[in-house]
Formats: sequence, structure tokens, C-alpha cells
Amino acid sequence: MAEPLLRSMVGERGRSVEHDRHRRHGSTIGGGAVRSLSAGGQSGTVDSLDQVTAEVVTCVACPRLVAWRELVAVEKRASYRDETYWGRPVPGFGDPAARLLVVGLAPAAHGGNRTGRVFTGDRSGDWVFRAMWKAGFANQPTSVDADDGLELTGAYVAAVVRCAPPANKPTPAERDRCLGYLRRELDLLGQVKVIVALGLFAMDGVSRLYGLRPRPTFGHLAEHVLPDGRTLLCSYHPSQQNTFTGVLTEPAFDAVFSRARELTG
Ligand code: SF4
Repeated sequence: MAEPLLRSMVGERGRSVEHDRHRRHGSTIGGGAVRSLSAGGQSGTVDSLDQVTAEVVTCVACPRLVAWRELVAVEKRASYRDETYWGRPVPGFGDPAARLLVVGLAPAAHGGNRTGRVFTGDRSGDWVFRAMWKAGFANQPTSVDADDGLELTGAYVAAVVRCAPPANKPTPAERDRCLGYLRRELDLLGQVKVIVALGLFAMDGVSRLYGLRPRPTFGHLAEHVLPDGRTLLCSYHPSQQNTFTGVLTEPAFDAVFSRARELTG
């Protein structure tokens, strides 16, 4: 039911093609464990990763972010002026049988908001998928566009906020509004053992989902056991601000996914 639903909702702009890309190249949506809906879903129906994706890509709950993501998609960066931007919320991507969940902040204005796939088409994504490839979670080290052949094995990637925010800063209300999608993905990805939080914002989002008080200590490679036994593994965000300044080096980032590999087996 989810795929026809998505097609009917997004077909007017040809987005079914984009959805098919997500299905082909991530084994992403579809096949997720079936459970009852949690917050943010439609009560009385059966939830699935397909359903979450269908709702994410058509969500208009945050007027400020809707306006921004669409403005960026129209104005574009000069170097991408011949491309058609996605300009919508960006769903999660990966293996429904994931043992590792990677959580970022939000799509980049000219990255995920352009390509329609999380951490795809921007410098941060270069770091994320290179490190995941080294650790055996991805079939290639690059993530250029939604048709680049990237597939994840044993891993799923998502963000706390699914729309590109101005200055990469969602408001607390926007964050909280969007967290329901991550909650549902966490419920559906029942085999996840490790959650890698890329940056403080992502760690805070995961902490809120679990109701952790006080908030866990953030630090690179800091680990916290969550109430359900999963491990929260923290990492500095691979933003250019961190990677250009040497706050985060390639070996230090690789160590996060090496540790995730140890923990997931
Ligand atoms: S940020 Fe999340 S809740 Fe807000 S419009 Fe985008 S997808 Fe919807």
C-alpha cells in the first residue's frame, strides 16, 4: 500500500522516479519490520519504512522550513543551476535489517535538498560514506546523487530534521515536530544495536527520543548505553567547519565506524 500511496502523493512532480531510486539503491524502504504506529503516524494503520518515507517526503508541517527548502531549490547554487533540486524533506536511507543507525542534523541546502538522498552531494556526505565504506557498511566510498549505485548493508542513515534549515539551525519546535519520524524508524529498525550521533544536535535528538535526563555527555567516541540496550556512539559532525580546521580528522572519523562495526558484529 505504501508505494501506491507515495506515487499518488508525489507523482505530480515526477517524484515516483525519485522514490524508485531510493528503493533500488538503498534497498532502503520496503521490507522493514511491521509494527504498530507510534507518535507521528496514522493511528489504526500498520507502519512501515515505506509509510514513514511517504509521509516524510510530502510533509509540510514546518512553514519556515518549507519556504526555505523550496526557495533554495528555485534559487540554486550557481554550480548546480542546471540541476533540478529535490526541494522536499529527505527520507532515511539504507538497509531495513540495519544494525547501525547513523543520525545527522538535517539535509544540506545544496546536498540532500538538491539530490533527495541524505548526506548525498555534499562534503559531509563524502566523509560519512567514505568512512562507512571502509568499515564495510557501504558498497562504495562516494555519494554523489541518488542514481550513483550506493547501497548500504547493515546500516541506515537518517537525520533528526528532514528539511534543510536556514544556517543549519532548526528551531526547537521544528526539531521536536520532526523527531516523530526518527522515533518510528527506530521502532521499525528492530535490529539496530548502535546509533551513531553525528554531532551534538543529533545526540540531543536521540536523547530526547529516549527521555534521557540529564543529557549524556557529548564527546568524540563517547558511548552511552540506552535504556533498550542499544549503544549511543557519539561523533563530531563531519561538517566543513570541523574537517577543515582539523577538529575532526579522517582517522578519528574512521574510528567511529570501526567501533560501530565492533559493536554491531
Ligand atoms: S522538518 Fe520534518 S516535520 Fe518539519 S516540514 Fe520538514 S519533514 Fe515535516
